[in-house]
Amino acid sequence: MKTRPGAVPHGVQLLHDPLRNKGTAFTEVERDALGLRGLLPPHVHTQEEQMARFLENMRKIADPLEKFVALSALHDRNESLFFRVVCENVDEIMPLIYTPTVGLACQRFGHIFQRPRGMFIGINDRGRVAEILRNWPLKAGIIVVTDGERILGLGDQGANGMGIPVGKLSLYTACAGVDPALCLPVTLDMGTNNETLLADPYYVGLRRHRVTGAAYDELVDEFITAAREVFPDVIIQFEDFANHNAFRLLEKYRDRICTFNDDIQGTASVAVAGVLSALRVKGTRLADEKFLFLGAGEAATGIADLLVAAMVAQGVDAAEARRHCWLVDSKGLVVKSREGLAAQKLPYAHEHAPVADFLAALKALQPTAIIGVAAVGGTFTPEVLRAMADLNQRPIVFALSNPTSKAECTAEQAYQGTGGRALFACGSPFLPLQYGGKTLVPRQGNNSYIFPGVGLGAIACGATRITDEMFLAAAHTLAAQVTPADLDQGSLFPPLTNIREVSARIAVAVAEVAYQRGLAARPRGDDLRAQVQAEVFDPCYRGYA
Ligand code: NAD
Repeated sequence: MKTRPGAVPHGVQLLHDPLRNKGTAFTEVERDALGLRGLLPPHVHTQEEQMARFLENMRKIADPLEKFVALSALHDRNESLFFRVVCENVDEIMPLIYTPTVGLACQRFGHIFQRPRGMFIGINDRGRVAEILRNWPLKAGIIVVTDGERILGLGDQGANGMGIPVGKLSLYTACAGVDPALCLPVTLDMGTNNETLLADPYYVGLRRHRVTGAAYDELVDEFITAAREVFPDVIIQFEDFANHNAFRLLEKYRDRICTFNDDIQGTASVAVAGVLSALRVKGTRLADEKFLFLGAGEAATGIADLLVAAMVAQGVDAAEARRHCWLVDSKGLVVKSREGLAAQKLPYAHEHAPVADFLAALKALQPTAIIGVAAVGGTFTPEVLRAMADLNQRPIVFALSNPTSKAECTAEQAYQGTGGRALFACGSPFLPLQYGGKTLVPRQGNNSYIFPGVGLGAIACGATRITDEMFLAAAHTLAAQVTPADLDQGSLFPPLTNIREVSARIAVAVAEVAYQRGLAARPRGDDLRAQVQAEVFDPCYRGYA
């Protein structure tokens, strides 16, 4: 377990240091030794009592956004307590600190704003980004950076998008135990084209439209260079960039620095894990399946690319593997004759007559799996689900769009529309439900099964790059944690309550690939699991005196 370096501050300063504050849990000895006597009420509480008090208050609040605000305030004053609350109540709290509530929190960011967290770097800061990053008081190990242009399925939220890097980094700690002191959320404020925000007096960002072209690229480049100069070993995760920037930035930097794009690669890994689980139920191999995607953006092409990589690893020819994946975008089926297709869609532009809509494409192609990632709610209609059920004994139906309002269908609709036969995964949480006398437990294909473990593994081995092979290893590791009992109740992922163990195993798998490929800067210890565990932050209080 990690211990925090540096001297412990005294008195009020300590109470205002969220990384070290323990509030009323400071012991009698600590109160004398650290100048806290009189600054706290006399009774010493345990962390368990503090946790119970917080939960009692939070559970009285009905509105999820107000719960989010309460959790953010706790995060700002006592990180250990915050992470203990999250870790021990992960099913309850994750939807509050991440999707779906974080989507609303971004939309309302300026209105609920209390304290800054992370760093804002704006287009006007060109030429002094390194100087700005030096204002960060700690040594960052992981940066999650957004430009706020494609927040979940909610579009351009400008600087309000900061809710996403903050939320993602909380999940690094909650799900994998990455030390919160290593986590730096960053928003690149390139402006916003969201007129509602520009007219909102409480909006936190620059009052200007988005910059594009060379000015945009130069700021991103300066930020990347500066981040690597100020924090030499830092991992940089790109998050919620619009797809016209996401793919090219990933291509530009993936072989030069330690970086990944979670919307493309993390999504791919969790979705492939879900598919591998579904195949266990069906008793088939990837090459027996045909995948039809609704959506052809970051998530869809990322998933398709990793499915292809997985098939290739099983001995399937790459060109043949690509023919198992078909995409439908806003203009219909992606086919070879279409002009002006974005580069990431081209590998999946197969020979076929044009087809205008998803249902027609489904009937023409007869897929075994449909994967919804277009952020258009309700698009897996009863007709779509019935067609899948007519074609397949066990149709694979993944409704991955976020937040819940954008989901292609609900879990209930998926089961009802397929006579309970769907192998279902979702992007937003849905409660267990009864169908045909059985309790079905749909589980979220949540990226937080993947990226925290990948980050922890990368830290533990000092990864110099993060590769698709690591994400494929993570997918196999996650799928291997799904038990027959999970599958029997319709769950394609393990329970979130196991997330720490899942992440630790993924971290080991990722580090293993890094060592095999010569992409690890730290020497390999005898026991990789112990090496990973040594990096894990424990939210239980430690003594200072
Ligand atoms: P994106 O903007 O890169 O892609 C969206 C795609 O949908 C584009 O190809 C667009 O052409 C297509 N599209 C839009 N309207 C359409 C329509 N009416 N019919 C068919 N296609 C249409 O976005 P993305 O990063 O790929 O994310 C898409 C959705 O998936 C979002 O809601 C996101 O939150 C969700 N997502 C979920 C997970 C998860 O559950 N693990 C992970 C990543 C993304």
